Formats: sequence, C-alpha cells, structure tokens
Amino acid sequence: MDLTILNAVAPVETYDEDPLDLMDEIDELKKSKDAAILAHFYVDGDLQDIADYTGDSLKLARDATQVPNSTIVFCGVHFMGESAKILSPSKKVLMPDLQAGCSLAESCPADKLAAYQADLRAKGHDFQTVAYINTTAAVKSLCDWIVTSGNAREIIDRVPADKEILFVPDQHLGRYLSSVTGRPMILWPGSCMVHEVFSIQDLLRAKRNNPGSIVMAHPECPANVLDVSDFIGGTEKMRKYVASFAEKKTFLVATEANMIHPLAKLAPQHEYIPVPGIMASTGETCACNRCPHMARNTLQKVRDCLRDGRPEITWQPYFAQAQEVLQRSLLQ
Ligand code: SF4
Repeated sequence: MDLTILNAVAPVETYDEDPLDLMDEIDELKKSKDAAILAHFYVDGDLQDIADYTGDSLKLARDATQVPNSTIVFCGVHFMGESAKILSPSKKVLMPDLQAGCSLAESCPADKLAAYQADLRAKGHDFQTVAYINTTAAVKSLCDWIVTSGNAREIIDRVPADKEILFVPDQHLGRYLSSVTGRPMILWPGSCMVHEVFSIQDLLRAKRNNPGSIVMAHPECPANVLDVSDFIGGTEKMRKYVASFAEKKTFLVATEANMIHPLAKLAPQHEYIPVPGIMASTGETCACNRCPHMARNTLQKVRDCLRDGRPEITWQPYFAQAQEVLQRSLLQ
C-alpha cells in the first residue's frame, strides 16, 4: 500500500442510513460470512457496541489469534489490521477503510529506519531495536522487539543489559519508558498527532475547575502533560484504574476521546472529561481529541466490507519476518 496516501487525512464521509438498520444488517452478515468484529477503544462507541472483541492493540492482537471465525473485520487503523493478518495468516482480514492510517506509524518509514540502523552500526553502536506496535509491518520486520503500552516494561527487561536500545517511533513513550526502566534509549523523533496536541494550559485550567479530579494520561503524551498527571497508562490500564474506585470520581482523560465510551461502560459511577487539544490547522482549542484515522471507521463501511469481502489485508513478503518478531514479543 502507498503510505503517502495516509499522510493527508482525507475527510470522513457522512451517510444518512439509519444506524439501527445498519446494525441489524451487520449482525446478519456476520453470521452468513462467518465473521467476527474486532474494534479498538478509539473507534466510535457504536462500533465498539457491535464488536465481538474490543480492546487496546495488545489485547486485539492476541484476540485475533483466538477468533474461531474464518473472517476478521478490524475496526482500527492499518497497522492493526496488518498485525491481525500476520498473527492469523489463514484468516481473511478485512478493514472498513484501508486509508485509516496512523500519523505515528507514518513518522517512521522503513527505508529511513534501515538507513539509520546502518549508520548507528557503522558508528560502532551495539543495539537492539524496540518498536512500539504503532509501526508498519515493514518497520516491524527490521526490529528485534515489539511493545505496546501494556507490555513495554516487561519486554524492555528482556533486552540484554549489554545492548543499547533504539526505540521507535514514539519519542514521548520512549522517554517515559526510559525513565521508568532506567535504560538509556536512542529515540526516534516520531509522535502521534492526537496525543501531541494536548493543551497543557487547558489541562491545568480543567484541573483547577474540577477540584479533586484525577488526570489520566496515555504515555504517548508529551512530558509536560505526563508531569502533571496522576495516572499514566495505556487504555487497558486506564480501564482497570477507574474500576478500582467504587465512589464517584472525576477523571480528566488525556487520550483519544472515544476512550471515554469503554470507561463509562465499565465504571458509570464516574464523570469523565476529555482533556482539550489544540487543532493543528487553526491553533484553536477543541473540546476533545479525536483521531481522524480511527474516525474513518463507520457502521456503513463495516456493512460494506462484510458484504463485499473487501478491502482486505493481503499477505506481503516482509510479513514473515514481522511475524517472528510479533510472536516472540506478544504471544510468548
Ligand atoms: S491516536 Fe495517534 S497513535 Fe493512535 S491511531 Fe490515531 S494517530 Fe495513530
């Protein structure tokens, strides 16, 4: 696939079909096509509600290997569909929209990484490359380990102590992991467009306006946001954290705004306020932070891809090397 297409975030089409009719149609098609739907926590709540499996990247990658159906519809972004196909090669993996990319994955192209690795080796560095799962399969095939925000510390402990670590592509997550594991890291300068833009001033204002509130941030956020957060963790950890409070709390949530859907479903006793972001296009503050790539997944596109059997993630030659790294990192 030509990833340059993904750099420009195309506008999301809107449709006026009745969502309830679409949901009924999807239910029927799931049965007739022997399909299961996997949905990431960052897609619309409607899609999470019709999914057979929901979760973060780590959970969904593992779920993909357990799905009994012959077809998987992956509501998420491109690298997630690739990981599902790589870990379950015999299954047909469909995506509602192949153009649902990821700004973080695109910030680390495989050819540039290969050149950088060669340059580091030529300069005498003896390192292993640890990649966040938000990378293309071509990048994964160049790496030694794949981590998610859910298993990163455990995997980094598996890198031999005498090796340096090159961490790609998220500089903020890498910096955070380096501080919690005590392992120095060479950081690739990538970042996520959604987590990069949280407004620290608006976060501090929201904290002041909501005395006693708890700030939860994803480790993809920049250090200035993490520094004022009460809890730092990936999406599965956020779910466990809010569920640990029986009494009502107010949470300021610094991650993709759709994450509030599974949080409120699991722990409805709390109030959840999305931390505002600053829109790159205008510099204005927006009320919440949505990932435009995740937003490309819609009920209609799920129905269409189930009905038509496409678009499909097909096996690529470099998937074999990526498979070895993914299996070692996520399944063993
Ligand atoms: S929220 Fe950021 S890291 Fe996640 S899919 Fe969107 S652009 Fe990629």
